[in-house]
Amino acid sequence: MREVDALILGGGFYGCHIALALKELGFGRVQIIEREPGIMRRASYVNQARVHNGYHYPRSLTTGISSRRNFNRFVEEHPFAVVPDVEMIYGIACNSRVTGSQFARFCDEIGAACREDRQVMNELFDPALIETCFSVTEIAFDASALARNMMSRLVAAGVDCRFGVKGRVSRWDDQSVIVDTADTPVRAQYVFNCTYAYLDDVGIRVRNRIKKELTEIALIKPPREMSGRAVTVMDGPFFSSMPFPSRSCYSLTHVRYTPHMSWTEAGEAALRFDGSRAEMMIRDTSRYMPSMRTSAYLGSLYELKTILVKSENSDSRPIVFERSDDSDRMYSVLGSKIDNIYDVLAYLKQQPWLLR
Ligand SMILES: Cc1cc2nc3c(=O)[nH]c(=O)nc-3n(C[C@H](O)[C@H](O)[C@H](O)COP(=O)(O)OP(=O)(O)OC[C@H]3O[C@@H](n4cnc5c(N)ncnc54)[C@H](O)[C@@H]3O)c2cc1C
Repeated sequence: MREVDALILGGGFYGCHIALALKELGFGRVQIIEREPGIMRRASYVNQARVHNGYHYPRSLTTGISSRRNFNRFVEEHPFAVVPDVEMIYGIACNSRVTGSQFARFCDEIGAACREDRQVMNELFDPALIETCFSVTEIAFDASALARNMMSRLVAAGVDCRFGVKGRVSRWDDQSVIVDTADTPVRAQYVFNCTYAYLDDVGIRVRNRIKKELTEIALIKPPREMSGRAVTVMDGPFFSSMPFPSRSCYSLTHVRYTPHMSWTEAGEAALRFDGSRAEMMIRDTSRYMPSMRTSAYLGSLYELKTILVKSENSDSRPIVFERSDDSDRMYSVLGSKIDNIYDVLAYLKQQPWLLR
């Protein structure tokens, strides 16, 4: 039996950050067990690479404001992972849930820069389908650069990382929690469940209901007109094309075609998959942005997206930081976007029983 002070299940961006924070709080033996062969191989890598600055959430002022706060901090702390010189464009579709003037008012309310851009409108969009577009301040991040930096921080902090190891909580008492792995079980004083899409599948009961979606991100070589630009069309069943820096290409996601299936039951589901929908994504996107017809499809990445059932139909993006009902020594953590990590860390540091 290995003995540790804190065991983190899942070496994504969240698990790694929590491991570092626990070290800072004075925990001695902190261990991450990750079922993939390295850190940040799942949702922390397969995502749209957008550091949200509020624009995405015109129907939730609080999410807009918290995104703005976290955006600035993220950019300051991760300059090495920020992709420079990308002009971010938000197009407002004619049948959007918000109008152009509502979007501009929302940006004003949350203090986010936005400028109506007629030139880009003429160059990129079909005016019959897009009401107006705005040039905004938002960035794409390079997930590979984030992971490299994170790995060196974990090593420097003395966090013990075990890869290719799947853990499952088997029992607990007042003093510790036992986590079974394929080889040696681990006895931990505290366990942090940071497994994102597997949050309800590691032997810890989770109060919040989560919904898992099998999602497809198409990777494309964008048309010349998109060079140095990223486009998001709002607000409803539309699409987004962003740089995907870790593969030197662009991603394309579409609200209707990216999710393939979803489920809310605990545990892994039998995945039903009827082939890539990249062609449909490109076809529909081209109606709004004719130049997208000439984009070249390079392949697709698939990942399970995890959302709280309670925020499914709203723009709210609350974090989960749950102390288990069964034991004070088990926590489940879920952040809906990369920058929410700061909300989780703030919450963690407020837990008096974790202070050494
Ligand atoms: C399609 C998609 C697009 C997204 N776009 C954006 C975006 O543009 N901007 C943004 O900010 N956020 C975006 N997100 C959300 C963002 O990716 C997540 O909030 C974030 O990556 C979650 O990090 P994590 O560490 O919790 O999860 P993960 O990175 O998935 O880490 C969880 C880890 O736990 C491991 N694990 C699971 N079970 C076990 C086990 N039993 N034992 C050991 N290890 C285990 C997994 O292998 C995994 O590595 C997107 C997500 C998806 C899926």
